[in-house]
Amino acid sequence: MFESLSDRLGGVFDRLRGRGALTEADVRGAMREVRVALLEADVALPVARDFVEKVTEAAVGQNVLRSVTPGQQVVKIVNDALVEMLGSDASELELGVTPPAVIMMVGLQGSGKTTTTAKIAKRLSAGQGGRERKKVLMASLDVNRPNAQEQLAVLGTQADVQTLPIVTGQQPVDIARRAMQAAKLQGFDVLMLDTAGRLHVDQALMDEMRAVADVAQPTEILLVVDSLTGQDAVNVAKNFSDQVTLTGVVLTRMDGDARGGAALSMRAVTGKPIKFAGMGEKLDALEAFHPARVAGRILG
Ligand code: GDP
Repeated sequence: MFESLSDRLGGVFDRLRGRGALTEADVRGAMREVRVALLEADVALPVARDFVEKVTEAAVGQNVLRSVTPGQQVVKIVNDALVEMLGSDASELELGVTPPAVIMMVGLQGSGKTTTTAKIAKRLSAGQGGRERKKVLMASLDVNRPNAQEQLAVLGTQADVQTLPIVTGQQPVDIARRAMQAAKLQGFDVLMLDTAGRLHVDQALMDEMRAVADVAQPTEILLVVDSLTGQDAVNVAKNFSDQVTLTGVVLTRMDGDARGGAALSMRAVTGKPIKFAGMGEKLDALEAFHPARVAGRILG
């Protein structure tokens, strides 16, 4: 991920570092190139503009240009601004509530929501990410798409995570109630609810999502979006967060995303942290999203 941006920025900064002494004009010239690189990576225009302004101000305003290694200093300023743009501290899942902690997964159809539900369930039940193992139950509330509930059951078997038995004809809110009850009675730590997706953001989808959230009172509502859709992913996130209190975003298909525009704009545009990155189809292809590490990857 981020290969193209990383290459472009690498070129700009190698030239800056190679110079030794730097003038304000050198910095401004380099920042123009950074702006173009960000826009080519499909970063939202206002986000790219703010970023470049902030970095330029910091680089020409302080004693950076008079320092012994000005190029190095500018790269450090860029790094810090990138980390801030990506969301500073990595934010973990909130599970410290009276069990079961409910994680509700929302998103459009095809975004990778069901796969991501199973990936997170597997991660939690295996105790990855330095946490203790959790007893996890998954339930699909998708009664629209044929076989959606069966798909989650199959993934559950692969991930070695239990799924709520399927009762045909039951509506999403009732399935959520039954899942809550089962999770409480059977001592599950975490309940993951995979809600229905649709092809577009529409009122029916939003109404159903809110009704489920009212019943389940989730501690996390994670929006799953496809990073390959670039700024559309960011717009979808904005639409969802206008309707429901999202606690974070999962960006899928980052394994195929050489540009990274959605990841880079998401926090600034929506105010929501990216919590995980989907890195492939397999159930262990999920990474916690650490802004500092990601910035390091971009700047090589
Ligand atoms: P849903 O309709 O949102 O529930 O989407 P699915 O979970 O069924 O996923 C749709 C397709 O995307 C499946 O073929 C998944 O294997 C694939 N997929 C999901 N996440 C990722 C990812 O992070 N990377 C890649 N390459 N494929 C993914």
